[in-house]
Amino acid sequence: MIKSFRLQLTAWYLLLFTLLFTAFSIFLYEVLSKALYKRLDENLSSEVSTAAGLFRGEMAEFKGDASGAALEAMSEMSIRGVVVGVFEGNKLLASNTPLKGRELLAVVADAAAAEAPEVRTTLPRYGKHGTRAVARRFVVDGRQYVLLAAESLHSVKADLGVVRHVLFLALPLIVLIAGAGGFLLATKNLAPLRWMAEQARNITDKNLHNRLDIGAANDELMMLADSFNELLSRLDRSFETMRRFVADASHELRTGEADVALDHDRGPAEYRESLAVIQDEARRLTRLIDDLLNLARADAGHVSLRIEEFYVNDLLAECCRSIQTKANAKKIDLECHCPEDVAYRGDQELIRRVVLNLLENAIRYTPEGGRVEVKVEDSASELHIQVADTGIGIPPETATHVFERFYRGDQARSRQNGGFGLGLSIVKWIAESHNGSVELSTKPGLGSTFTVLLHR
Ligand code: ADP
Repeated sequence: MIKSFRLQLTAWYLLLFTLLFTAFSIFLYEVLSKALYKRLDENLSSEVSTAAGLFRGEMAEFKGDASGAALEAMSEMSIRGVVVGVFEGNKLLASNTPLKGRELLAVVADAAAAEAPEVRTTLPRYGKHGTRAVARRFVVDGRQYVLLAAESLHSVKADLGVVRHVLFLALPLIVLIAGAGGFLLATKNLAPLRWMAEQARNITDKNLHNRLDIGAANDELMMLADSFNELLSRLDRSFETMRRFVADASHELRTGEADVALDHDRGPAEYRESLAVIQDEARRLTRLIDDLLNLARADAGHVSLRIEEFYVNDLLAECCRSIQTKANAKKIDLECHCPEDVAYRGDQELIRRVVLNLLENAIRYTPEGGRVEVKVEDSASELHIQVADTGIGIPPETATHVFERFYRGDQARSRQNGGFGLGLSIVKWIAESHNGSVELSTKPGLGSTFTVLLHR
C-alpha cells in the first residue's frame, strides 16, 4: 500500500484520468468509424443511383438489349476506385472495371432476394483491406436487375489507423503530464498540512497559547486549523484553571492559623478564637474534598441517585433557615417563596446541594443590604427552582464559563471570599443527572438569577 497521502491522491487521480481518457478514446473512435462508414455507404449508394439512371436511359435506346445497355452505361461510369456492375439474376451484364468473386455474387443474390430493395454489407476478406458493398434491386421493362457498387475499405481503415495511432501515443503522454500535474497540485495543496503538523509538534503545555498559522489556505484547511486552534484554546483554558486551582488550593491548605496559635502560650479566649478559625478552615477543606470526590465519582459514573419523593417547599425552607445567619451577617434580605406541598421525586440530598450552593453564591456575591429571593414554579411536567440576587452580577464574557470546573470569576478571586469554583459545576451536574438543566440570566451591577429546570 502507498503510505504517502500525496502519492495516493496522485494515483487515484491518474487512475480516474486514464479510465476517462480511455473511455473517451473508445467513444471517439466509434463515432468516427460510424461516420466514415456512413460516408462510404452514401457514396456507394449515389454511385448505384447514377448507374441505375444511366442503365434505364440506355435500355430505352438499346430497345431492351440489356447487355448492350449495361455495357454502354458502365462505360460512362467513372472509375475512381469504385467497382460498379449490372447483374441480371446472378449473371454479370457489364461492369466499369473487371469484377469477380463469389462474395460479390452472394451480395447480388442477397439484394435480389431481400425484402429491402438495397443491401449494404462489409466483405472483410474481399480484397486486401476488405470491401464495402451496396447492391440495389430494380426493375426495367418488367425485368429485375441488380446494381452493385463496391469499394475497398483501404481509405477508411487508413483514416481509423491514424486516429488509433494518435490515441495510443497520446495516452502515455497525457497520463505522464496528468500524473506530474496531479502530483504538483497535491504537493501544493497539502503543503499547509505539513506546515500545520510542524507547528503542532512544537506546541507543548508550556506554550499552549500559541496558535497555528497557515496563512492563506483553502476553506477546508482553514476549518481544520480553526478547529485545532479552538481545541488549543480549550486546553489552554483547562490548563490555566487547573494551574489556578493548584495555586489556590495550596494557598488554602497552608493553614497558618495553627502555626500562629502554637507560636507561644496564649489565653483561653485567644485559643478559642484560633480553634474557631481552624474549624472554619477544616469545614472548607472537607467541603472541597467532598466536592472533588463527588465530581470524580460522577465522572466515573459511580454515583447512583437515591430517588425518593419529598416536599420541595420543606427542603427550601430548611435551606433558607440554614443560610439565614450568613444573610443576617451581611444584612441581606432573604425571601423564600414557595407554594405548599410541592412534591418531587429525586435525590433529596443532591437537590439540597443545588439550592445551598446557589444560595451561598447569592449571599457571597451580593453586597450588604441587598436582597436574595428563592422561588419555585411548579407545573405538571416541570419544576423550576429560581435563586435571584441583587448582587454584583456576572459580565457576559464570564457568564459562559461559570459552570466550568474550577472556574472563578476575577471579582470572586480578588475578594478572596470565593469557593474553589466547583459550586456551579456541581449544580449543573446534579441538574443534568435529574434530566434537567440550569440557566443563568445576569446583568453586571444589577444581579443574577439562576433557574434550575427539573423534569417530573
Ligand atoms: P465559587 O466557589 O468561586 O463561588 P462557583 O462555581 O460557585 O465557584 O461559581 C463560579 C463563579 O461564578 C464564581 O467565582 C463567581 O465569579 C461567579 N458567580 C457564581 N454565582 C454568582 C452570583 N450569584 N453572582 C455573581 N457571580 C457569581
